[in-house]
Amino acid sequence: MKVENALKELSLINLDDLRCFINGEWKKAEDCSTIEIINPSNEELLAKVPNASRSDANEAIEAAANAFPKWSGLTANERGSFLLKLRDLLLKYEQELASIISLEMGKVKGQALGEVQQASSFLTWYAEEGRRIYGETIPASSSNKRLFVIKQPIGVVAAITPWNFPLSMLTRKLAPALAAGCATILKPAEQGSLTALAFAKLVELAKFPQGVINIVTGMPESISDEIFENPIVKKVSFTGSTRVGRILVKKSAQQLKKLSLELGGHAPFIVFEDADIQKAVEGAIESKYRNVGQTCICANRIYVHEKVKQEFTELFVSRIKQLSIGSGLDEGIEIGPLVNESALNKVSSHVKDSVEKGATIIQGGERCFKKKGYYFEPTVLTGVTNDMLIMSEETFGPVAPIIHFNNIEDVIAEANNTDYGLAAYVYTSNMEKAVRTAEALQFGIIGLNDSSPAVAQAPFGGIKQSGFGREGGHQGIANFLEEKFISLKV
Ligand code: ADP
Repeated sequence: MKVENALKELSLINLDDLRCFINGEWKKAEDCSTIEIINPSNEELLAKVPNASRSDANEAIEAAANAFPKWSGLTANERGSFLLKLRDLLLKYEQELASIISLEMGKVKGQALGEVQQASSFLTWYAEEGRRIYGETIPASSSNKRLFVIKQPIGVVAAITPWNFPLSMLTRKLAPALAAGCATILKPAEQGSLTALAFAKLVELAKFPQGVINIVTGMPESISDEIFENPIVKKVSFTGSTRVGRILVKKSAQQLKKLSLELGGHAPFIVFEDADIQKAVEGAIESKYRNVGQTCICANRIYVHEKVKQEFTELFVSRIKQLSIGSGLDEGIEIGPLVNESALNKVSSHVKDSVEKGATIIQGGERCFKKKGYYFEPTVLTGVTNDMLIMSEETFGPVAPIIHFNNIEDVIAEANNTDYGLAAYVYTSNMEKAVRTAEALQFGIIGLNDSSPAVAQAPFGGIKQSGFGREGGHQGIANFLEEKFISLKV
């Protein structure tokens, strides 16, 4: 599908008049300033979105504060009904949402449709999970006392989300917050603003009470200053880089604001000699090239046992040679553009640094100069060593370093040799090796013969410098609840 056709089909947003969603109303930025969204598939201006000011953010927070008493006073069933209505609308508009995702940040349409499904699954799961916010009764130390613990919504919460999953990151944060009874303000990533505003339109169509969900687009600094300095906001849920995560930890100190952080990763992908090589190759390709390598859980370092290195590498390279590169909206495309010029520069610099330090490019290695847009070839490197940037920093692009190993102890030590601790993958047909390796790996998420472990009903999050707190599962809703102990003398 051509970009012009996709633009004509949009009905959820008007690209010529984009506004923030505050207190159920559509508003320009206070000073009418905007930021430009560039289409990564052709480098042309796609739209201008409001650049909300600190006072716009303040208005959104006030609206959430006003909405909170009534929203938290609804029953879990009533709140769940709103979430399910929103879920139904997401699915009704899945084609349109997927096109907006694809236009805005380049994801290929098939994967964007998958993202809409995943986004809807958080709404379904938390509509139900809200009904299971159970308290506790505790045996007392004297016969005239009764002890209870109740759980209550934390209050107004803010979500700051990234561009790489511009829809599913919204529902992964908002669905549990709303189910718990919290009122919300969302600041999407700049390059996720159109998707967030389309989502806001669905919030309006679902007839959420005004102020329960507020969406402000714009540059992050002043919005986040207001979020962190306004005492009404009781909790911030953030997904993004470790660099920004550190800034937010500092900002949260003044008011001891509760924070959950889902940050970067540097996932090892281990293929043992007894693995099903065909499946390991498919898994590594899915993990590495999904969203062109722009996921925090993508395989960053592929460790392959010496005995199967040749078989694995040949199959891997022959498969990635077949991947078709182009605009995410075009039929049959598997590799879309990277999100922007600086992403492209980072990927190029990692490849250059590796080659300068002795690595060999056995496939790809270049920007696709023939096309306008931020395209980079699927790339494979061998001869990679630990002093190369690619082995310690997130590349966030389609570059796969393949490293060889000889024994299980060495590969576990190498895999754990990172400041990050988000996801790791292990391919083997030996059950004992699978379990022992999973236990020894210092990561929050382990895929055993599984390259797509993230689902709504399971906890997602990292250890070490990949952050703290979990999203998804019953753990995800706990983030938005306070426990209150009540001692009753009878
Ligand atoms: P990436 O490098 O993948 O773009 P970032 O961590 O920069 O990841 O961005 C993730 C989210 O954090 C985005 O919504 C972005 O606007 C926001 N962000 C970036 N810088 C700051 C900051 N200083 N304070 C608060 N939020 C920020």
